[in-house]
Amino acid sequence: MSPAILILGSGALTTARRIQASYPGSQVYGLNERVTADISYSDFGSQLRELYQSNRPLIALCAAGIVIRCLAPLLHTKGAEPPVLAVAEDGSAVVPLLGGLAGVNVLAREIAAALDVAPAITTSGELRFDTCVLNPPSGYVLGDIEQGKRFVSSLLGGQNVSIDGDAPWLEQARLPLAADAHLRIRISTDAQGSADELLIHPRSVVALNPPADAARIQQSLAAAGISAHALAGLLCPREQMADNALHATADSLGVPLRFSDQPTLNAPHRVLESQGLQLAIAEQPVVIHSLGQARGRLTVVGLGPGAAEFTAPAVKRALQEAQDVLGYETYVTMAGPFRADQVLHNSDNREELARSRHAFELAASGRRVVVVSSGDPGVFAMAAAVLEALEASSDPHWHSVELQVLPGVSASLATAAKAGAPLGHDFCMISLSDNLKPWEVIELRLKHATLADLALAFYNPISRARPWQLGRALDVVREQRSPETVVVLGRDIGRPAEALTVTTLGELRPEMVDMRTMVIIGSSTTRRFAKAGSAVDWVYTPRSYPGP
Ligand code: SAH
Repeated sequence: MSPAILILGSGALTTARRIQASYPGSQVYGLNERVTADISYSDFGSQLRELYQSNRPLIALCAAGIVIRCLAPLLHTKGAEPPVLAVAEDGSAVVPLLGGLAGVNVLAREIAAALDVAPAITTSGELRFDTCVLNPPSGYVLGDIEQGKRFVSSLLGGQNVSIDGDAPWLEQARLPLAADAHLRIRISTDAQGSADELLIHPRSVVALNPPADAARIQQSLAAAGISAHALAGLLCPREQMADNALHATADSLGVPLRFSDQPTLNAPHRVLESQGLQLAIAEQPVVIHSLGQARGRLTVVGLGPGAAEFTAPAVKRALQEAQDVLGYETYVTMAGPFRADQVLHNSDNREELARSRHAFELAASGRRVVVVSSGDPGVFAMAAAVLEALEASSDPHWHSVELQVLPGVSASLATAAKAGAPLGHDFCMISLSDNLKPWEVIELRLKHATLADLALAFYNPISRARPWQLGRALDVVREQRSPETVVVLGRDIGRPAEALTVTTLGELRPEMVDMRTMVIIGSSTTRRFAKAGSAVDWVYTPRSYPGP
């Protein structure tokens, strides 16, 4: 994961950008009002904790003490421990704080090199041997951390060591090597080592066509004398892609699940059968991402009305994890900022089905795809289009995609909240656009909803291509509802140009409304009263309704 770089003021921006240049995909988080960076936050502590818990490497350009205090409450509980560093805002000091086993010292050295200073490394083993023996590079896993710590203590105590197996990253280390050493670092998939051995396992074993049963896979590995740490992943036929039990199995083993029409390795390997399970054992650590493909993911999200604070955390996470983002350009921009490695596919607002099909093509190839809508994706937006495209498709690869819809705050609800509670009793959401349904249907529905005395929320009330429809709709409503009926107009709610108007049905004119407006027409019981300190009244519809 690329690091998050946090700054508190503009004085740190230059150093932050210098660090950022070394890490493609990294983002600079700036305290809002004080500095404009890639992402703005309002509370340093909560932002830091949120990133820490999502396991993101953290580089904070501030006093080490501030970082320690902010993260202290999280340190008792096990869980994520990403690398955390404090860097002086002028770039003169680089202090690794946490995440020794997650490579914090490696980061410290890299950042210090970029800033042309010496890192403040305090880990003894690291200082003595120039590398953290207990933190092998990706593709390798330490067998047992407790044994590892004892091993490093013995090394620090002056004992020699030999290396058995292929450990290219230890070649530059200043280890006290001796062929006849008592201590030994052994690179092997073996589950068992001797007391004097530090076992480091290459992730070089792949289970081919395994059953959806984590315990059985573990037993097969154990029976073959192979460490579970050496398991690089599970490789299954594509037709099993939608098998949830298989995904749960991979999750519980903590390994990736990959799919291929020919489940076999693409590098030199041998295949061993253990208790009916086929294990492919490669000569080198397996680059799992080059093996078949992952199950693709398509997430249809609602951004809410506009302001980022009204976007659900689950939506933000999906956007963070997205490789491709599709949507109407305005909404894609609203969903940003994005990293350079994320691909944005902007399209015209009317190409909903074509966009959905494109999203499935991308997701079926194994990518993590997000389709954005404003408000809620299920309210006159992309979720239904995506499902329509899926139902119409007979492509099994589309149906195997992990599809999810994440809700958002719809414009009617955001507008209602601004005004008070005009939708506090029964109401109806209706789109006045006759692009996708005949105008007669709209009129009929309006007539019945008005007769039923529902409050009405109009989406798509008017546009240049649909100039007369709103006036006609108001005529229908006025046949049943009095001119005193309370009306709320919300324009650009949750966006910088936000404007809220409270008026009456008698005074409402189509000229007061545009395509960025939400029109809420109250029922016969909707009320208004003065709001202290505001020119705009509170509006609400009581919970109770008079009986006959
Ligand atoms: N999925 C969206 C609605 C899309 S239809 C949602 O759930 O909100 C588009 C219509 O929604 C616009 O014509 C306008 O009537 C309304 N709308 C969308 N965003 C709005 C906003 N921020 N303020 C007021 N109305 C908005």
